[in-house]
Amino acid sequence: MTLRQLDADYRSFFALKRNGDKTAKSPRFKGKDDFTTMTYNQSGFKIEKGKVTLAQYCSKTPLTFEVPEKFVFGRVFQVSVFHDGDDYYVSVVYEKAAMAYVDNGLYQAFDLGVTKQSAVNSHGKFVVFKNSRPDKYWNPIVDALQSRRAHCRKGSRKWKHFHKALKKRKRKCSNQTWDFQHKLTRKIVDNTRANTIIVGNLNVKGMAQSKQSCSGLNRSTQNNGFLSRFVWFLTYKAQLVGKKVIEIDERNTSKRCYVCGREHDMPLSRRVMECDCGNVVDRDRNSAVATMLRFLSQNALWTGYQQFVGNLRKTGLPTPKLEVHSQEALPLRVG
Ligand SMILES: [Zn+2]
Repeated sequence: MTLRQLDADYRSFFALKRNGDKTAKSPRFKGKDDFTTMTYNQSGFKIEKGKVTLAQYCSKTPLTFEVPEKFVFGRVFQVSVFHDGDDYYVSVVYEKAAMAYVDNGLYQAFDLGVTKQSAVNSHGKFVVFKNSRPDKYWNPIVDALQSRRAHCRKGSRKWKHFHKALKKRKRKCSNQTWDFQHKLTRKIVDNTRANTIIVGNLNVKGMAQSKQSCSGLNRSTQNNGFLSRFVWFLTYKAQLVGKKVIEIDERNTSKRCYVCGREHDMPLSRRVMECDCGNVVDRDRNSAVATMLRFLSQNALWTGYQQFVGNLRKTGLPTPKLEVHSQEALPLRVG
């Protein structure tokens, strides 16, 4: 396995070099502790209900992993065993057929944020999902350990002690974040009747680099890739049940008043948008509604647009002044 891995690493290194990639680095020395992944491609494993058995020739101990019975694997591509901290994990890559997507005329638009996700659906109803932030708890602990490690000679017994403790805390924090995001996206996908979920296409990198954002936000966006991972989870979970996640350009959705279209200066500390047109609205709600309106108008879904506007009116919210002309009134393009 090790030789195969090394061979694959060298091949990919030379392939990158041939293609003129100057940043490609050759495989470096790795100690025995780094080789903790065993990969089985296509063969060498047997999967029965509730059990994954791997072939091995080194000892008589059978390599059998118990898997919850609810997992039904389709065509299996790869099985691998890896080591993280003190635990061993088995990972099975298999094919799962996605359900076909049908536009059911219901939509849900999201404004993604680091502290919460605000959503609005076609019925003009708002939902807010608060993000759990394990990093808020772990960051001070990690910082303290890091600084204590910095005072030790690298490689010394004490240094190793802090290093190990540090790695453990970091892993815990990251596991908690992943776990939360999996649960939240699962909840969103299962609980919405809308088959189309719209999210703003945010450039997380741009957010982290912008000078305006405060350092706390910076750290969390960089450390977790929090929002892009949220969209990734949402997308694949939606696909499996026949729903679809669409990313649209979200520029200015948080700045522009969805009622009159006027743009306001909205620093992150300003939570409520107050517009001269009389619209007073939570900034994230404004952004969610604006995302929804933009999606519907960009895709010329005018019936959906009118229904959405009508539902906003029913719930007592101000409606956009730029009412959209009915389908008949739109100029027909021939050809
Ligand atoms: Zn306005």
